[in-house]
Amino acid sequence: MASVQIRGVQKYFGGTHVIRGVDIDIEDGQFAVLVGPSGCGKSTLLRMLAGLEEISSGDIAIGGRTVNDVEPKERDIAMVFQNYALYPHMTVFDNMAFSLMLAKTDKALIKERVDKASSILGLGKLLDRYPRQLSGGQRQRVAMGRAIVRNPQVFLFDEPLSNLDAKLRVQMRAEIKELHQRLRTTSVYVTHDQIEAMTMGDRIVVMRDGVVEQQGKPLELYDH
Ligand code: ADP
Ligand code: ADP
Repeated sequence: MASVQIRGVQKYFGGTHVIRGVDIDIEDGQFAVLVGPSGCGKSTLLRMLAGLEEISSGDIAIGGRTVNDVEPKERDIAMVFQNYALYPHMTVFDNMAFSLMLAKTDKALIKERVDKASSILGLGKLLDRYPRQLSGGQRQRVAMGRAIVRNPQVFLFDEPLSNLDAKLRVQMRAEIKELHQRLRTTSVYVTHDQIEAMTMGDRIVVMRDGVVEQQGKPLELYDH
């Protein structure tokens, strides 16, 4: 677990000022949701946390360490994407194991991590399947498994449920919350869906046009 601090962060794409001075504090173990309309800068902010996008000014610290110039793979984070980004030619096991294999993690430890993640996610019987043989919900679980096995200090979720149908979306929200209650890993979750934000977040950050409009616990937020 780790706290996350975002201090005076700005982002320009060419001459366009898309993040216009943002301060956010996320405590150890919190589940923070960034919510706001499409185009307000949520993904850009998340990608800056991941190190996938440079910050134009300001500071980002993870676990008390400023990471502005730290490469993505040197940051102790794992990201779960909307489009799953699973490798089609690899089994469920290999999809989950792959980043650990690249990092030359010991084989026995890889197996232990994958077994633990798949039991948490109910994927134990599907380890030999390929992504095309899985349902949408199962694919999303594998994508989460890939993040869990890395045992990161922080999970970053980029609209992970927006490709799922409404019923599955509700079910997966509950599963992600249970996962968080179990692992207590600090999480930053991006969504444009206000109901999703209010049901999932224990800290909500409302963004609009590149600034934070308000932030706090769900019950502390005011209505417009
Ligand atoms: P959100 O995730 O809230 O939908 P984004 O962070 O994706 O918003 O985008 C914020 C703004 O930045 C949008 O106006 C978008 O068009 C712009 N933007 C995002 N990525 C780039 C890029 N690589 N180059 C130029 N503009 C970008
Ligand atoms: P590639 O993109 O080269 O096909 P990976 O995505 O598995 O392979 O890994 C590339 C690098 O990104 C690795 O060094 C790994 O540490 C890191 N990485 C892998 N998965 C994630 C993730 N979910 N979130 C953040 N970083 C990741």
